[in-house]
Amino acid sequence: EQRTVAVIGLGIMGGPMAANLVKAGYQVTGFNRGKQKVDALVAQGGRGAESVAEAVSGADVVLTMLPDSPDVEAVAEELLANARSGCLWIDASTIRPDVAVRLAGTAAERSVRMIDAPVSGGEAGAVEGSLSIMVGGAAEDVEAARPVLEAVGSTIVHVGPSGSGQTVKAANQLIVAGTIELVAEALVFLDAHGVDAEAAVKVLAGGLAGNRILDRKAAGMIAGDYTPGFRVDLHHKDLGIVTSAAREAGVAIPLGALVAQLMGALRARGHGSLDHSALRLLVEELSGH
Ligand code: NAD
Repeated sequence: EQRTVAVIGLGIMGGPMAANLVKAGYQVTGFNRGKQKVDALVAQGGRGAESVAEAVSGADVVLTMLPDSPDVEAVAEELLANARSGCLWIDASTIRPDVAVRLAGTAAERSVRMIDAPVSGGEAGAVEGSLSIMVGGAAEDVEAARPVLEAVGSTIVHVGPSGSGQTVKAANQLIVAGTIELVAEALVFLDAHGVDAEAAVKVLAGGLAGNRILDRKAAGMIAGDYTPGFRVDLHHKDLGIVTSAAREAGVAIPLGALVAQLMGALRARGHGSLDHSALRLLVEELSGH
């Protein structure tokens, strides 16, 4: 039985995921760089650790929720050196599929079972515990992780062997980026024609153009509120993963490559910390609005 969970990375996603694990009855020990986010978890009933080693020693399950592949690689050594034998490591970060496969191999050498379990659903999904989780790894490890995953998500699908969760997440990020760009273009287009955008979104959401970006992001895009959410920096990172994985597989992603360029341009303009829906700013600039 799994009772103790260490959570490494208590940011926009990891913080509320850790809080939901506390609510589900797990004993949760959290670690993040800097004290503030650890204190927030303690205030919600978790425990704080001062290092990765302290957090993971004695944990049945370790959940990492870190920004990028190098961040997960950076904690891996300390994590694996201090995790108990047979420990289950769930990496929920969005990282390169090839890095996930390599880390799972290293973990297995140290008797730690690792699965990749990247998530979709954004900050709202993390807070509500309704994330969609794409899981790659051995079937028995995925089953063992299911109770923990069910405490943070509502759609949990085992999509294949190690790394395939990350491949599915890359496809997710391709769809989300393209959809945001098209919604941004539509909103600027509507504005330029003097049409009430809120009314337009209401009717668009009920037809074939309906999608979660319209439901969850359009209001912010209309108000010019780009508080993250999901940062441009992180989506730019993900489109880099998509681009190189597509190239490796010999798959053409012309629209995806274009959106990757646009996300990069938005970042180069100093908007890396804004929500990815800030792609609208770029459309406005290109349109001279
Ligand atoms: P974030 O930057 O808010 O959180 C990451 C946290 O990790 C930060 O608090 C940071 O201080 C901490 N951290 C970084 N390196 C560390 C280290 N070596 N040791 C300890 N702590 C460290 O990012 P986020 O939005 O929570 O995203 C986390 C991951 O989830 C990313 O891979 C992202 O792509 C993915 N993701 C994000 C969203 C979203 O909507 N925000 C949705 C789905 C997936």
